[in-house]
Amino acid sequence: MRKSSPIYVTKPELPPLDEFIPYLRDIWDRRVLTNGGPYHERLEHALQAYLGVDHIALFCNGTIALVTALQSLRITGEVITTPYSFVATAHSLVWNGIKPVFVDVDEHTLNLDPSRIEAAITPQTTAIMPVHCYGHPCDTEGIQQIADAYNLKVIYDAAHAFGVERNGDSILTHGDLSVLSFHATKVFNTFEGGAIVCPDDRTKARIDRLKNFGHAGETTVVAPGINGKMSEFNAALGLLQLKHLDSALARRSEIDALYRGRLGAVKGIQCLGTAGESRANHAYFPILVKPDYPLSRDALNEHLKDHGINPRRYFYPLISEFPMYRGLPSANSNNLPVATAASQQVLCLPIYPDLSSGDVEEICTIIASAK
Ligand SMILES: *Cc1c(COP(=O)(O)O)cnc(C)c1O
Repeated sequence: MRKSSPIYVTKPELPPLDEFIPYLRDIWDRRVLTNGGPYHERLEHALQAYLGVDHIALFCNGTIALVTALQSLRITGEVITTPYSFVATAHSLVWNGIKPVFVDVDEHTLNLDPSRIEAAITPQTTAIMPVHCYGHPCDTEGIQQIADAYNLKVIYDAAHAFGVERNGDSILTHGDLSVLSFHATKVFNTFEGGAIVCPDDRTKARIDRLKNFGHAGETTVVAPGINGKMSEFNAALGLLQLKHLDSALARRSEIDALYRGRLGAVKGIQCLGTAGESRANHAYFPILVKPDYPLSRDALNEHLKDHGINPRRYFYPLISEFPMYRGLPSANSNNLPVATAASQQVLCLPIYPDLSSGDVEEICTIIASAK
């Protein structure tokens, strides 16, 4: 057992408290607590600039943002999605009365495999909801080609993909909408929070109405909207977090390189690669524990826990294995061989800016010396 405190897969980033106090004092003075106040507006503009996107609508969390994204495009019927994600991806469909149809993932990226989508399309299919898993970009071109051929909408669950760029452009501008999460465990957090990145003013106006009960004015309600608003507290915190983000991302990148350097030569361990991003966010550090490693994935997980290191089996079980989904025909593991194998082999190692290089060394030594 480690003499120092246990290490978890992530540790939320927080700015110095001293820097937050003036923001709080200002909110207290103004008495504007929510409903699109000045911090909400400033954070939207700051995120547009930071992420390189034209329109963004802030939310109270990523799940309500996903639910609202589907509402804003009036998606119904069936939606093709990945089983290899956090359960909120599929839940957002069910909250809209939509049937999830699971399609297997690509073995290299663990993202939705475009070559398998076509076979899952039925007359009821209206959209595709892929996930940029671990912040590794999907094959957005392959997915868009199929969407165009069958007139389907594409909504990306981009909860892991904050700040990710490919060829110098934000990954968040692909498809019809992209949804972010600012949950405490994510690369950029507002304690709880989320956002929808959308292409134009009209879509943003519709999303802004839907997140505010469908209000289009003091006495006009045009849709059965929800309460998805981000408060001034969370928005102010986000503004402050943004100031420290570049140094946090730089440290994540160093840790990623340390792991790759040490684990690259360990037999039976495969560090999952990137997917061609020109700017990665190193949100996660997933490894595959292959059959030629001395321990199974679950045994390595326990072994690390015995040493006070707490990795996570993201994503095990698959979404399609949970009781409310496993009865669907598309949830059958024969339909999802790649995702099923990955969920039995993957382990996400601790990665966060506060993690010391010594701790990374220790984790790698435990993994390299296991018998
Ligand atoms: C975190 C996460 C969500 C949910 O976001 P919340 O802000 O926690 O509601 C959705 N999808 C994926 C892939 C996530 O990792």
